Amino acid sequence: MEQMDFLPIFINIKNRDCLVVGGGEVAARKVALLLRAGAHVTVIAPELCTELSGQLRAQLPRGMIIHRAEAFHPEHLNDAVLVIAATDDPAVNRQVSKAAGQLHIPVNVVDNPDLCSFIMPSIVDRSPILVAVSSGGASPVLTRLLRARLETMIPAAYARLAAYAADFRERVKLHFSHPEKRRRFWESVLQGPFAEMVFAGKDQAARTYLEHLLERKTDDATQGEVQGEVYLVGAGPGDPELLTFRAMRLMQQADVVVYDRLVSPAILDMVRRDASRIYAGKERSNHAMPQESINDLLVRLAKEGKRVLRLKGGDPFIFGRGGEEIETLSGQGIPFQVVPGITAASGAASYAGIPLTHRDYAQSCIFVTGHLKDGSVNLDWQMLARPNQTIVIYMGLLGLPVLCRQLIAHGLPAGTPAAIVQQASTHNQRVLTGTLETLPDLTASANLTPPTLIIVGEVVKLHQKLAWFAPESDLHAGEPMGTTVNAQKK
Ligand code: SAH
Repeated sequence: MEQMDFLPIFINIKNRDCLVVGGGEVAARKVALLLRAGAHVTVIAPELCTELSGQLRAQLPRGMIIHRAEAFHPEHLNDAVLVIAATDDPAVNRQVSKAAGQLHIPVNVVDNPDLCSFIMPSIVDRSPILVAVSSGGASPVLTRLLRARLETMIPAAYARLAAYAADFRERVKLHFSHPEKRRRFWESVLQGPFAEMVFAGKDQAARTYLEHLLERKTDDATQGEVQGEVYLVGAGPGDPELLTFRAMRLMQQADVVVYDRLVSPAILDMVRRDASRIYAGKERSNHAMPQESINDLLVRLAKEGKRVLRLKGGDPFIFGRGGEEIETLSGQGIPFQVVPGITAASGAASYAGIPLTHRDYAQSCIFVTGHLKDGSVNLDWQMLARPNQTIVIYMGLLGLPVLCRQLIAHGLPAGTPAAIVQQASTHNQRVLTGTLETLPDLTASANLTPPTLIIVGEVVKLHQKLAWFAPESDLHAGEPMGTTVNAQKK
């Protein structure tokens, strides 16, 4: 059998005496950690760093930390159940390790595995859930990276989920005589709608749901009707790295995904493999599903007990008709939750290096849709043509000439900087900059592929300085931001 280098255990140090030798920043972190686990800490150090002395002054209740401004002496170990040496003097560290060893007190010397009888793991704290990771000193960086991944995978609300499980544990025990049935009950509860309600902050509903399950079911709570639910999730502008943790998690547990044209293939790829996929298209697409039937589809799937992921580009509540979809759901009493996404305006602005507001150029920013109805754009031009304001236009490609003309007609200078961003945040991103006067022609000859977003205002000037994202297609073109056309230079 493979040998383990260590035995991982969790040790209870509540109200026990622990010793920290050293008064620097590392010691301060160890003291904080020990306090979090409820210990009484004695710090041995001639001097304390500002952080530690701050901790000492601010401690509540008082007396949890005691400072002794002395050099280490083995007698300090008398009542200690655990000791950590964090001094920058190797001789002192060795002395602590040796003295603790003689008394069989667990000892950790920071960054010196040879002098340790125990090592401290990286932790993910969702108390009462604790995840500890260690590489046994092989690679602290690797451990830290792993920890970061675990942090993203375990929702913060796991703490509350575990607390509920503890609350109900006895009742569930009484309810199911058979351990196997009990296990199946918890398995279904902790991955099902109950968990989702807790994660979504619907604690009251979660409690009621669990009560209800327990009342109704005697020995087979895992069977019976399942409650469907709809997750209306914003997928952001295209780069999968811009998904939220919550979006990622819901994507992993959906039974069926109903997605838009705007959801990038890279993101769709990350949805649970065996979830069925339904393409819902969007307005201008040939195969568009009318909004009404999308609403009905969501209702029908949820009523079949499915966990339905309604995945939309950007943010579902910004020009996404997300409101209409959940209105239908709420009318039918179907549980749903809404997960925000990074809207195209934010995505395009960041990835094109165009801040939407800036103290020197724009104190406000306005999002409008340039979608044409009967060839005309119905917008409040007066309001849009205000100075010191950035205008972001969604769905504006077809209407661009009209838009620019109207903005000029209502008082914006023809030379106002303007940009159009194609497929922001993806490898196909292209940024064209010009002015209200020049952008329509530039765009007409550039052969852009939707989706595209238009940004109008002085902030567009900053693109030249702040552009940082150079997608591969640009690099292959052999020049930095190779497809950027900058008419202002001319
Ligand atoms: N709910 C979405 C917007 C839907 S409307 C959001 O919050 O972003 C569709 C319009 O969004 C497109 O016509 C385009 O103007 C804009 N858009 C969406 N994704 C984009 C992207 N990656 N790059 C540029 N524009 C985008």
